[in-house]
Amino acid sequence: MADWNWWPRFHDPSLRLSLREQVVLHVEANVRMLRDWRACWTFTWISLLPVPLLLALPYLIVHGWDGHPAASLAVAGLAFLAYMLLQHVAFAVAMRRTYVRFVRLSLASLGHPACVECGHPLGPKPPASCPECGSALGESR
Ligand SMILES: [Zn+2]
Repeated sequence: MADWNWWPRFHDPSLRLSLREQVVLHVEANVRMLRDWRACWTFTWISLLPVPLLLALPYLIVHGWDGHPAASLAVAGLAFLAYMLLQHVAFAVAMRRTYVRFVRLSLASLGHPACVECGHPLGPKPPASCPECGSALGESR
């Protein structure tokens, strides 16, 4: 949790990609991920974890505080805000656990090889292990 961010870090911030490069990168990363059913499955179930809270909203509105409609709406509003927060966290976790890897793998086809684990740029001749995190770089090359 020490390196938690509200949005995944796809690559090193020093790598400045044009809008066109970003579009090409993410299209390729999406296509790569869609070919991996395990990644798609993991992404889907993590992303759907907060949905039961959303499905409970109609119940909270109708039965939240019987006889106190304003309180019921307030409870439902707070539950909706909690859902939005949890949904964002679930989506960020799902992307971090699945999609980020495909983005980093796709960076190599744009001429910017990067470590799959940490996103550190590797240069034109990648070493055997990442100088930043020490991961073996078999798939990044
Ligand atoms: Zn690394």
